[in-house]
Amino acid sequence: MIMEQQHLTFSNGRIAFADKSDRELHRAYRLFRMMKFSSLISLGAPVLKLALMLQLPVKKLIKSTVFSHFCGGENIDECMPVTEKLWSSGIRTILDYSVEGSLKETDFDDTLQEILRVIGKARNDRRIIAVFKPTGLGSIHLLENACKELQGTYTLTEDEKNQFERFRNRFGRICREAYEAGVTVYIDAEESWIQDVVDSLALELMMVYNRERPVIYNTVQMYRTGRLPVIREGLDLAVQNGFVYAVKLVRGAYMEKERARAEKEGYPSPIQPDKDATDREYDEALEILASAIAHAAICAGTHNEQSTMHLVKIMEKEGIPPGHPNILFSQLLGMSDCISYNLASSGYNVAKYVPYGPVIAVFPYLLRRAQENTSISGQMGRELQMIHDEMKRRKS
Ligand SMILES: Cc1cc2nc3c(=O)[nH]c(=O)nc-3n(C[C@H](O)[C@H](O)[C@H](O)COP(=O)(O)OP(=O)(O)OC[C@H]3O[C@@H](n4cnc5c(N)ncnc54)[C@H](O)[C@@H]3O)c2cc1C
Repeated sequence: MIMEQQHLTFSNGRIAFADKSDRELHRAYRLFRMMKFSSLISLGAPVLKLALMLQLPVKKLIKSTVFSHFCGGENIDECMPVTEKLWSSGIRTILDYSVEGSLKETDFDDTLQEILRVIGKARNDRRIIAVFKPTGLGSIHLLENACKELQGTYTLTEDEKNQFERFRNRFGRICREAYEAGVTVYIDAEESWIQDVVDSLALELMMVYNRERPVIYNTVQMYRTGRLPVIREGLDLAVQNGFVYAVKLVRGAYMEKERARAEKEGYPSPIQPDKDATDREYDEALEILASAIAHAAICAGTHNEQSTMHLVKIMEKEGIPPGHPNILFSQLLGMSDCISYNLASSGYNVAKYVPYGPVIAVFPYLLRRAQENTSISGQMGRELQMIHDEMKRRKS
């Protein structure tokens, strides 16, 4: 592992791409350039999806391009070379089984078994962190109704009560096995209308398993209004009850869907009025949590350079050393390497989300990455520029 003690910047391409061969760098450049053309993505995606479903020979093409840039492999073992490579730069792997959108109980049981396999792999291997999506363990409709019951506007039917019990057992089992194996587990956040029940379950389990160290991290989406009081309450509870309140802090990925639903159903949008408000509250949440680091743990899941640098500055101000075990920075595989690698080389804890799963099942994830990279023109432009500069530096 190379450690460079120097002034931290996110523009050192030599560090950011040290583990990329010239070939990999060229491939990334071509990929990001292609993703600039949104019409290409919107036209190409359905064609590729159909071709995959018809089992036409496109899998190899997808696997050697966009899949190998953004994903670790089709199963846990295939991800291990990526884990090795990341770790050689001091970066941990968050193994993210990215198969989405099932409604079947047998699929929920299969997902549970897959997450338990990740936990098994991560036992005695501190490079690996586990993560799961609540909708991988129970249907979104069930969770929506369970939230309504929590708010007193709905009563679960007998069948739903049984389904919910099974969901709860799967959720609890992952957390218990992670605790017993000494593994950290993140709970992803999804749509706001299923979040209350997930939040309350996560807090319950943190009280049990986060006594000695942060084992379970729940995700808070700062694009939602009213999250700062939620964080303060969680922190108060942790102080009073002697556990670590562990939060993966993100901005949030379902903005359009949230706004559209609120408009359609006629309730106030749960999303901040503008990007500035999201940014402000994200940074304030970092301050609240970092200033109470004896009782809190943070995973800053962001590609935003300002927020990342903000957390670095808060750590300096609070006298928190870069490698403090309760603070970790995280980005997605194939994105913002300039942040991940430069942080890691200055001694900060960093982990990459490494999505994996069969190519066809991971396709929606790949599509989101491609669409995101056409719409976030600023970040995409920066990504492309960094790769371009590094290619030029190597040539000279
Ligand atoms: C490691 C990691 C884990 C993640 N886990 C989750 C998860 O569990 N759940 C989840 O929902 N997302 C998750 N995300 C995605 C995340 O929520 C963001 O969508 C994504 O990272 C972009 O935000 P940013 O902070 O990186 O950067 P930026 O580019 O600075 O922010 C973009 C984000 O700002 C917000 N935003 C943009 N425009 C507006 C506007 N007009 N008004 C209000 N807000 C606005 C949106 O949230 C948008 O995604 C994760 C991301 C990472 C890196």
